[in-house]
Amino acid sequence: MPDLHQLSPQTVLSKYYGYEQFRGKQQDIIDHVIAGKHALIVMPTGAGKSLCYQIPSLCREGVGIIISPLIALMQNQVDALQQLGIKAIAINSHQTMEQQQSAQCRLEAGEFDLVYVSPERLLMDDFLERLDRVSIALFAIDEAHCMSQWGHDFRPDYARLSILAKRFPSIPRLALTATADALTRQDIQNQLGLHADSQFIAGFDRPNIHYSITQGENPKQQLLHFIKKNHQQDCGIVYCLSRKNVEETADWLTDQGFVALPYHAGLSAAIRQKHQQRFLKEDNVMIVATIAFGMGIDKPNVRFVAHLNIPKNIEAYYQETGRAGRDGQTAQAWMVYRLADVARQRDFIESSTAPEQQKRIWHQKLNALLGLAEAPSCRRQILLRYFGDNCRPCGNCDNCLSPPKKFDATIDVQKALSCIYRTKQFFGVAHIITVLCGKSNAKVREHGHDKLSTFGIGEHISQKAWRVIFRQIAALGLIHVDVQHYNRLRITDKGFEFLRQKQTIELTEYRTLKDTPDRKKPKQQAHEAASESDQTLFEALRAKRLEIAQAQEVPPYIIFHDSVLWGLVREKPTSLKAMRHVSGIGDVKLKRYGLPFLEVIESAD
Ligand code: ADP
Ligand code: ZN
Repeated sequence: MPDLHQLSPQTVLSKYYGYEQFRGKQQDIIDHVIAGKHALIVMPTGAGKSLCYQIPSLCREGVGIIISPLIALMQNQVDALQQLGIKAIAINSHQTMEQQQSAQCRLEAGEFDLVYVSPERLLMDDFLERLDRVSIALFAIDEAHCMSQWGHDFRPDYARLSILAKRFPSIPRLALTATADALTRQDIQNQLGLHADSQFIAGFDRPNIHYSITQGENPKQQLLHFIKKNHQQDCGIVYCLSRKNVEETADWLTDQGFVALPYHAGLSAAIRQKHQQRFLKEDNVMIVATIAFGMGIDKPNVRFVAHLNIPKNIEAYYQETGRAGRDGQTAQAWMVYRLADVARQRDFIESSTAPEQQKRIWHQKLNALLGLAEAPSCRRQILLRYFGDNCRPCGNCDNCLSPPKKFDATIDVQKALSCIYRTKQFFGVAHIITVLCGKSNAKVREHGHDKLSTFGIGEHISQKAWRVIFRQIAALGLIHVDVQHYNRLRITDKGFEFLRQKQTIELTEYRTLKDTPDRKKPKQQAHEAASESDQTLFEALRAKRLEIAQAQEVPPYIIFHDSVLWGLVREKPTSLKAMRHVSGIGDVKLKRYGLPFLEVIESAD
């Protein structure tokens, strides 16, 4: 192999990665770092941050030292680099002493292009002394938001990385993260001694993700409908709020013929590990999980993230849905939620021991998420604005594809509020709706609610549609769900003001499942309209990939991404030379895997 340090970034990109063009700011960043400068890089998941330190590590003299918080993530990256023919290794505490020693000696002997270490390892005196003796291309700090106490995942070890600036002042320092607000960014810059002109910030948008949020009526049935319609063969993550829900949903999906594995903190570490590995290493596996699952999952072909309950705030929603579509192919973020979920989130907040001030912030953050969930306009715009970013109406969310109809809900809301008032603000939503719809049952009769003037005044609307109205007026703050007292509905000051001042109000209409678009229509990707024979070829290539991956005990995507398989389907190369033109196939992968895949394509004719 030629000396890498002679190669240009463009050549490395093509030769090793098999890509022909840099994306977004990659080229600028790579040139900047190769010139010996520092950089803070904020880019959304899947934008291609890794290349920003990998390629300069290859093009500059010396080894790139990559600091990464999770051992599993490190190993994944190292596996992927080794597949490309790049000399990389991880040094961490999961290895035996001998392995660690040998790796460190080889590091000193200059054998590697990239070395991945945890912050604890890097900060060991012994390790730092070794580094004094080797030629270093750069330091890259992945998940750099962990350095700041303003970030969402502060780690004390990360904060100590500030010594890099003092100890190795002339070596380029790169900080990379997908989520850092202005305060966090400033903090990282201060700690690493970076200048303001070394910031590279890409937008937060994940254009390939389709967002949709709907009323939860029968969440499990809705989920089934969604998966059957869009993701029969795909990997996905289903988030639930409770362990019990996780277990039930996983069992239920299994009964429906899917491979669905539960994951939550109540399962043993061994089981969790096993399920996570199956998710990573097999195709078609769904994980049903509480939020305990996800940190450090960089599986690129997660095709959907479904929420059966509302999460706690927009940051969490963005982070969880962001696990979909890292490979840039179409993916879906799909959520159903109910008023009861909101009550549950409020209850979590209220029952915590945090100071009042903190609780107020949490409530506000939940409100912002409700604003997103109830919005009649483009979801992406609201999401991006929350992070200080912007876009046009996106054409790839439920509201853009099928704008919800609005209606004058003034009288209905007056009826709803007065029914809550007449029943003495003592009952939950189900009972109030029963009274509004004029349905008599034992509870209604026991309290004499069938004699009230509000009994039956809402008969013109279905019970489901009433739920949608109640959810919206709760999100708007006209009513309050009292989670401390059996989810009773109370009218807020804002609600009384609405009545007193005879305000008018517009709400969005109740939509049935059939009305809501399920996926991206206008900008469909080529393979979504694949012919039957192409689909068959894809499956055959996928089976070959799985076979190769299992033999090497690595996840299939480390061999080839789905996008590469689709590239092969599209081009149907008949020679290795032609195969080299498919994006994502560099020299080494061509040599290793070209023939077996060529055979699959040939035998498909
Ligand atoms: P991040 O770390 O920002 O989440 P990655 O570095 O993992 O993103 O890159 C996401 C995916 O995009 C990877 O599969 C990577 O191979 C691919 N990718 C990165 N840069 C390019 C490029 N210039 N052309 C094509 N694919 C790219
Ligand atoms: Zn939109």
